[in-house]
Amino acid sequence: MVKIFIDPGHGGSDPGAVGNGLKEKDLTLTISKKILSLLSNYDVSIKLSRTGDTYPSLSERAKMANDWGADYFVSIHINSGGGTGFESYVYTSVNSATVAYQNVIHAEIIKAIGGVKDRGKKRANYAVLRETNMPAILTENLFIDNANDAKKLRQDSFLNQVAQGHVTGLVKAIGLRQKLQPTQKKIYFYTGGYRGSALVKVHDFISNNGWWFVPERLNDGSIAFLVGEFTPGTEKANTMENFLKENGFWYEVR
Ligand SMILES: [Zn+2]
Repeated sequence: MVKIFIDPGHGGSDPGAVGNGLKEKDLTLTISKKILSLLSNYDVSIKLSRTGDTYPSLSERAKMANDWGADYFVSIHINSGGGTGFESYVYTSVNSATVAYQNVIHAEIIKAIGGVKDRGKKRANYAVLRETNMPAILTENLFIDNANDAKKLRQDSFLNQVAQGHVTGLVKAIGLRQKLQPTQKKIYFYTGGYRGSALVKVHDFISNNGWWFVPERLNDGSIAFLVGEFTPGTEKANTMENFLKENGFWYEVR
């Protein structure tokens, strides 16, 4: 399974950038947890560099990702210094896989947070980008010391958009597939062997409900039916199963 390592920037004794009553370390953790939750719908394994208000060093974060054998790395940050908008970083010298990784993720975040200034796809000699062995991106999600940006960062709905942008980007860049939901699984009832009035009763019940079925003649001349298809737990499936149980008919779920 694909492994994605998410790094909420700063934490603990290092608040990161502060401004307008906000701390970078809190926002990065909130966004990272939202990404984690959104990715739970996908066939992917996720690890965070921190899940609380702690400070692993930059080298520790990179080492955690390397030791775990992460396939992809994302570091989440909030900018400061008097600008506005979104920018992303990869290491100064990267392979084409990482360039593609940045292109797709950057574009999806810009799309998801609409109306925000695109400051561009950049490169920098940041420790977490330099010391990680896998395609790695660092995102700077608006400016904490800009009043307009801070207003957005205070809205949970905006942080959801930021997280969704990262997730859509990761899904596209990596080709993640959604987990098969248990309710999407289909089942069939196989039941038999009927003759006489029981045969008529079962046949009429199935056909009156309009369900697809295949009759099968067994060696002893009785008839079995394969009936389907049903989604487990639905009223249709329960109706079929209750009918079989109430009449004491033999069946198996396939
Ligand atoms: Zn930062």
